[in-house]
Amino acid sequence: MKQDTVVVSAGRDPHANHGVVNPPVYHASTITFPTVAAIEEAAKHRYDSGQTFYGRYGTPTTFAFEEAVAALEGGHRSVSVGSGKAAIVAALTAFLDTGDHLLMVDSVYGPTRAFCHKFLKRYGVETTFYDPLIGAGIADLIRPQTKVVFTESPGSQTFEIQDIPAIAEVAHKAGCTVIMDNTWASPLYFKPFDHGVDVSIQAATKYIVGHSDVMMGVVTTTDAVHDKVRAAAFELGAPSGPDDVYLAQRGLRTLSVRLERHMKNGMAIADWLQARPEVERVLHPALPGDPGHALWKRDFLGACGLFGAILKPTPKKAVAAMLDDMNLFAMGYSWGGYESLMVPTDPGPLRTATKWQTDGPCLRLHVGLEDVEDLIADLDAGFQRLNGAR
Ligand SMILES: *Cc1c(COP(=O)(O)O)cnc(C)c1O
Repeated sequence: MKQDTVVVSAGRDPHANHGVVNPPVYHASTITFPTVAAIEEAAKHRYDSGQTFYGRYGTPTTFAFEEAVAALEGGHRSVSVGSGKAAIVAALTAFLDTGDHLLMVDSVYGPTRAFCHKFLKRYGVETTFYDPLIGAGIADLIRPQTKVVFTESPGSQTFEIQDIPAIAEVAHKAGCTVIMDNTWASPLYFKPFDHGVDVSIQAATKYIVGHSDVMMGVVTTTDAVHDKVRAAAFELGAPSGPDDVYLAQRGLRTLSVRLERHMKNGMAIADWLQARPEVERVLHPALPGDPGHALWKRDFLGACGLFGAILKPTPKKAVAAMLDDMNLFAMGYSWGGYESLMVPTDPGPLRTATKWQTDGPCLRLHVGLEDVEDLIADLDAGFQRLNGAR
């Protein structure tokens, strides 16, 4: 089946639920068993996806959502957890022990970086951050103790595209597991398992939920490593709640049409910004002039509405004059909902392996589903305030 059909039908079985279109919400902590034989049998399969044993292992609502995401990402199975960050923690801790070494991309999402230098360090796992543009050169950084190569493409805030197939090939030769944070592309616009990824992470909070009202994460894996990741997610003890899972599977059904519009609006705004005299550079891999464009075109099936912009040198108070009074672009961090957002960013201090230096301030935009002419009018008025406050 084609992708748009899978978006609509995966993980649903109306006739198993009185003909009701969406899977029912099961609220459960206790699962009961009729006999000793049944309880013993269920205990044997408690880690299996689709088996109910105890609320923390998931309910049929959870399993329906996981089935749909696995089908879309093209992986074997998925496991859902209480946030995108919990998905990252489950994926990393599934493969790393004391004494192991982790290769982490330097443009990674900030809270992922924090998990490495705070938590993992305490448990004796060493992290080396690497240049997002390293490609097959990652071979030089792999040690006998290296267990995981973690990727995120495009990079958080700076939007570099990584050569995932080249990295995966080298990593696999050295016996490493390749994890990717695939949140930007969503399960629709990058197919991690076609490019050598073993474990794919989605902050479902973003586009899968799509309405800025639920925190959730989901980890999808190959057959070979699924049990490890499911066990790690279980050890974390932070499952997604039934109402949240329900909203996530509901959001998923419109993901394809929403993303198409996010991409169209985002490209239009990116083009418009590029022509503005106040803008030094737009960071958007779908723009033909972007350094990551060739790789994006080779590997991705689309772009979402999230990208960056570097302004020419501008005083902070002028940037604030723009941002403080925006009408449609709200200031907020968690993106992927239907509404537009714009926040100031400062990627430089986060880097350790590479330098990120700009003369002017950086912005991150999430372009929502509003009419693009209204969004441009809002930005235009913002630039007038910015110029007036210089
Ligand atoms: C938001 C985000 C996360 C974390 O998701 P939460 O649900 O907010 O914990 C992880 N990775 C990326 C790339 C994100 O943008």
